Amino acid sequence: MKTYPMYLAGEFREKQNQIAVEDPYTTEVFAQIPQADPQDLTECIEKARAAQQAWEQTPLQERADLVSGVSNIILDHLKELAEIESREIGKPIKETLLVDVPLAAQCFAYYGSLLKDFPASLSAPRADTVDMVQYLPFGVAGIFLPYNVPLMIFGFNAAAALAAGNAVIVKLSEYGSLSLLTLAKYLHELEFPRGLINFVTGEGPIIGKALAASDVDIISFTGSGDTLHQIFHQITKPKKLLCELGGVNVMAIFADADQEEALENLLASTFMKQGQMCIGTSVALVAEDIYDEFMALLVGKTEKIKMGNPLSSTTHMGPLRSKGHLEKVMDKVARLKKRGQVITGGKRIETQGYFFAPTIIEIGEMIYEECFDPILLVKKCKQKEIEMLIEDNPTGLVLQIWTRDIKKAHALALKAHCGTVWVNTFAQMDTSMPFGGCKESGWGRVLGKWGLFEYLQPKHIGFCFAKSQASGWFG
Ligand code: NAD
Repeated sequence: MKTYPMYLAGEFREKQNQIAVEDPYTTEVFAQIPQADPQDLTECIEKARAAQQAWEQTPLQERADLVSGVSNIILDHLKELAEIESREIGKPIKETLLVDVPLAAQCFAYYGSLLKDFPASLSAPRADTVDMVQYLPFGVAGIFLPYNVPLMIFGFNAAAALAAGNAVIVKLSEYGSLSLLTLAKYLHELEFPRGLINFVTGEGPIIGKALAASDVDIISFTGSGDTLHQIFHQITKPKKLLCELGGVNVMAIFADADQEEALENLLASTFMKQGQMCIGTSVALVAEDIYDEFMALLVGKTEKIKMGNPLSSTTHMGPLRSKGHLEKVMDKVARLKKRGQVITGGKRIETQGYFFAPTIIEIGEMIYEECFDPILLVKKCKQKEIEMLIEDNPTGLVLQIWTRDIKKAHALALKAHCGTVWVNTFAQMDTSMPFGGCKESGWGRVLGKWGLFEYLQPKHIGFCFAKSQASGWFG
């Protein structure tokens, strides 16, 4: 069994107290990670502060080159990182190799290049005054990662935070640590100030709580709404909090949609990563005119999904991340059975590993509940009802609209209170485009220039070379 040390204060550290890492496919414990204690964190923050001060003074071009360099090392070790992330989390290797790990690399390349064109300060000179904007980093950023896409969310946040001149303390999920602990040994070879980048491992209620309560200067949290509530109570002094939560993502399929394309994208958005995907579809609202035909195709294709070893290139779906998650999904289906009808799936697969069958549940009344699992709720709707249900959604992460009527799609997209609207497409993400939630899905944005600005504070400096506007105010 391999022991993965954490990476903090510029060194690799093991602990007496370890957390076992289980392979969700074989159910064997194959690795262990340290349980950090609050003392580790105090030391880590101290070192990160010193490193951040040096980093902030590093010339922009040099900073840009180092940030871009992370992209290269991720790509140099693409296969190793993809394999370990797939093995630990159960995601098919095709997803980690082609999407998750490359996207993390792209984030560092993007923010490195953005920095090269970024003005360190902007000025608006006039005859007697000069006004400048200086961009300040916050200092030390505490970044909480979820388990499903650790490298990707690290890329979304840490690339921007570092480019902006901050140090980062990354709290890894106890269910998704190994790819970043593997990356740490390669990051150590780069010439970042020691202690600038840290990976802390351990249970959320212990070390996550300590990080939330610590004096880091900004917190970025990606995870569930329930954990966010706890973090609210743990934070001890005012600080900026960026929140990327889940959503009840709706896919609206109108009668004039390209049904074949809609079907392909519905399957991908529901069952990729076994549904453990924040951009995944929770509810499909299908126009009544095409409902029966569409459902027949959907069920047919769902039942052909191949489940198996996440490390095999022919696997479509792997196991759920943990036994605990599998049990929660079984309870959820039992509960949903009282409000809908299971059309396919609805049960665990009795084999080695934490497999749950891809599941479709037909509902009569709308249910606004995130499906962070291989469950899709489907509702037959009239056109007006689709529009109303989109509007009533208490969350606002992703909306998919499927129609050939571009005017209707445009009107709906403009009206939606949502971070991302995809019209006749899914997962059209780009490092230069913003991503994040509205309403109960959170606030703040990652990616693009918006992601960089989240980690910067603009400061106004005003010079006056004559009498100021206030002078003589009182006569
Ligand atoms: P989670 O809330 O269980 O855990 C997130 C992080 O919080 C982990 O690092 C965990 O260790 C830590 N944590 C857990 N309990 C804590 C506590 N009591 N105090 C302090 N820290 C604690 O989330 P998860 O299960 O890892 O991820 C799934 C959720 O994340 C889903 O709701 C999903 O939609 C969301 N998500 C959102 C995005 C996005 O970009 N919007 C991306 C991925 C996942």
